[in-house]
Amino acid sequence: MGKADVAILGCGPVGALLGNLLGQVGLRVDIFEREREIHALPRAVHFDGEVMRIFQSVGLAERVAQVTRSSSQGMHFINADGQTLMVRRGIDGPGPHGWAGNWYFHQPDLEAILRDGLARFPDVTVHLGREIADVDELDARYVVGCDGARSLVRRAIGSRQRDLGLHQPWLVVDLLCDPASPRVRALPDYTIQLCDPGRPMTVVNVGGPRRRWEIMLMPGDDSARLTEPEVFWPMMSRWLEPEDAVLERAAVYTFHSVVQEGWRTGRLLLAGDACHQTPPFLGQGMCAGMRDASNLAWKLAAVLRGSAPDALLDTYESERLPHVRTFIDLAVKLGAVLQETDPAAAAQRDRRFAAGATLFDFPQPQIGPGERDDAPPPVGTIFPQPRLADGRLMDEAIGQRFAIVGETALLASRQAEAVLLPGVGADWLARHGLRAALLRPDRYIAAVA
Ligand SMILES: Cc1cc2nc3c(=O)[nH]c(=O)nc-3n(C[C@H](O)[C@H](O)[C@H](O)COP(=O)(O)OP(=O)(O)OC[C@H]3O[C@@H](n4cnc5c(N)ncnc54)[C@H](O)[C@@H]3O)c2cc1C
Repeated sequence: MGKADVAILGCGPVGALLGNLLGQVGLRVDIFEREREIHALPRAVHFDGEVMRIFQSVGLAERVAQVTRSSSQGMHFINADGQTLMVRRGIDGPGPHGWAGNWYFHQPDLEAILRDGLARFPDVTVHLGREIADVDELDARYVVGCDGARSLVRRAIGSRQRDLGLHQPWLVVDLLCDPASPRVRALPDYTIQLCDPGRPMTVVNVGGPRRRWEIMLMPGDDSARLTEPEVFWPMMSRWLEPEDAVLERAAVYTFHSVVQEGWRTGRLLLAGDACHQTPPFLGQGMCAGMRDASNLAWKLAAVLRGSAPDALLDTYESERLPHVRTFIDLAVKLGAVLQETDPAAAAQRDRRFAAGATLFDFPQPQIGPGERDDAPPPVGTIFPQPRLADGRLMDEAIGQRFAIVGETALLASRQAEAVLLPGVGADWLARHGLRAALLRPDRYIAAVA
């Protein structure tokens, strides 16, 4: 095995996506994964339109769409009496990224597609069943630790952990529901966050017969007994009876909110859960890891090809960390609403929303300072994906390159480095009082005119 351009440690969703992004630009990549089989316990069930756009960039969106359920519905925070406190809005039709805004899925199905995708690239080799005990074993110009919450690469880097305050055990179960049952048919399509101080829960329509329940552990719970029928079904009585569903899989997780400071030292880098963990109340943990991969891949490619200095990789953490923190901070705030178990405090909370539900959307933060000009938004935010006159989505015309949209004559001096798309995004540019925008390969706006 000769020297690889990049060794990726971990073939979870983030490592597998990064391998696809790097394989697509022809880099030599070795991926090492301890397990032979895809992780079977219940984890992510939701990703957003921006992540679908990243799957599009590696040519896998159509396949992913076949195993996912798109939804225009959002997430409703409901109290024990059924009063709606807050709604994270859904998006009707294709959203700004050219895809539906919310997608629901079974994580093993998604990971299988990402792994199959790797087989397209002769220079990407996946070593399954290979546990790495020391990063010095890895013969590669760069090593990316996509090795999850207990990351070995993170220990080698010596990152500092910043605790954002939320740590709470929850039982997570997937049920296969009987579609003919009237109680199953009565379940809503939107995601429910049940803010019941007696027992907070989350309910998600994953797709097909599968539904997800996330159930907060309460004082006195015996976590080993929670899935025993006489303990489990009474907790479900608001929705289902035992004859409505079978329990497919279950696990108890402690949800954490932490970020690491120090995503790079020398040739070592981190991505995904290795450098941040969020409670899943926004369904954004894996999404953040996918954005890491998208930010890092084009930078690694530019540095390895010699078209950018190695210092470009120092912009990765400074750009990504504030972005992911925005999502984690919001998830922690939502957790404070959802996880309130003091009845008096919950009643006071409910009175705050008595005038009507609060509506909100996913944040669309600016990335932190780094490669972008030090300019206010929309620089550093992601550019939408309109359809071109020929019917294609914009990114299809760009690939893993820079692009200039709008009045390209203004920026034609950069033609050698960028795809020119005259007139594209004209409405968006006009709304922002701009004439042109320079887009990076991850579609974040590098500069505007
Ligand atoms: C209950 C729950 C619900 C969630 N819901 C959502 C959701 O709806 N939406 C969302 O976006 N996210 C969600 N998440 C988060 C999401 O599941 C994770 O963020 C995501 O799986 C992290 O991916 P990763 O590739 O970074 O790490 P992992 O998936 O943890 O992959 C790391 C891989 O590295 C391998 N590895 C580790 N060390 C070594 C080693 N030394 N040698 C070789 N291999 C190694 C491991 O075997 C593993 O396969 C949820 C998580 C949980 C627990």
